[in-house]
Amino acid sequence: MKKRALFLILVFILAMPALHAKDSLLQRADIRMALTHIEKNYERYLGKQIEIAEIPAPPFKEEKRGRFMASEFKRIGLQDVHTDKIGNVLGWRRGSSDRTLVISAHIDTVFPEGSDVTVKREGHRLIGKGLVDDSLGLMGLLALPEVLDAANIKTELNLLFVATVGEEGLGDLRGVKYLFEKGPLKNRIDAFISIDLADPQEITNGALGSKRYRITVKGVGGHSWEDFGRVNPAHALGQIIANFTSKTTSTDPKTSYNIGRIGGGTSVNSIPFEAWMEVDMRSANREALKTLEQVFLKSVREGIAVENKFRSSSKSKLEVEIEAIGDRPSGTTLESDALVRAAVWATKGVNLKPKLIMRSTDSNIPISKGIPAITVGGGGKAGNLHSPNEWYNPTNAHLGLQRILLLVMYYDEMKIPSTAGVR
Ligand SMILES: [Zn+2]
Repeated sequence: MKKRALFLILVFILAMPALHAKDSLLQRADIRMALTHIEKNYERYLGKQIEIAEIPAPPFKEEKRGRFMASEFKRIGLQDVHTDKIGNVLGWRRGSSDRTLVISAHIDTVFPEGSDVTVKREGHRLIGKGLVDDSLGLMGLLALPEVLDAANIKTELNLLFVATVGEEGLGDLRGVKYLFEKGPLKNRIDAFISIDLADPQEITNGALGSKRYRITVKGVGGHSWEDFGRVNPAHALGQIIANFTSKTTSTDPKTSYNIGRIGGGTSVNSIPFEAWMEVDMRSANREALKTLEQVFLKSVREGIAVENKFRSSSKSKLEVEIEAIGDRPSGTTLESDALVRAAVWATKGVNLKPKLIMRSTDSNIPISKGIPAITVGGGGKAGNLHSPNEWYNPTNAHLGLQRILLLVMYYDEMKIPSTAGVR
């Protein structure tokens, strides 16, 4: 026999237990019971999702919803429920091994304080700010332990449920950064799953990196007529933006930039003494992101120099403050990693087609540290995320939760040795 044929047979034999495991898992009575339980109780879970969405959780003001999650974690019987120093809410469902899998979702929304967070029904759709992003994920953290208990399923893995703070915008992943960089559990987590957004086919295994800056330009200000000729911070921002956005960016790997906020000045007939803007830059590739960042910083310096030179006869000069306000590292959990394989099986297990994608989520942090991590959609269909008209269609949404249950159980059965503490 040829070496290659022998090799293929060997690969096939080695793959057998895995194939067998995933088929037998679907036949297990307790797993079937759990899957049925999810479908039967889905209306109630959806109610819980709406209840969560109607508790405001503006950026940096997640306490109220955090307290609700803590009381819910206790109600469903999680152990050692507590809120850590940064505001994450944690609860355990202990297993029989010393390995720990985190299942998380984020508490914060992008909507400012005072937003109307009432959920409304329009036909098959529900409209609500943050209803999907990420009340759907938070609901999953409450439903899963209940389902496991109802089907009397024990795991080897310790399941640590974590509702994180600061996933969105300027939160800069501060909750998950604390968990993996400063908190008491930082060296004890073996793998990480975040439930975020809806699509039950998506498996985010690529961490989209981003860099964010706030640029503040300051001048002497003055009257728009009397003092015309002095440096103008708003004009300088214009120079910077024109300069930066006219430089080409790469499409492979995809790289993006966005001036998302801009402001300053006091009145239409005053030269502003201050103007500012916030910029977001992203890339699938670490090097491309670095290059883009350098192009941006160079554009800032050049734009300031142009305005200073143009107004040099006035003897006024601009000052610039460059403040880094966001840094999300990039990376990938390989397709061959057990966690991604388990997610692919689980997706097929509910008869959906897995889609591996790249995005910026809480998983960026564990991924950048070499800890297997993925983000999965919670189920249903959604749109207009981060906008006041965020909508959710919960048709067949139970498939999302069923997939996550299978994912956790497949991963548990794979018995991946712990690497926590030796990293
Ligand atoms: Zn989200």
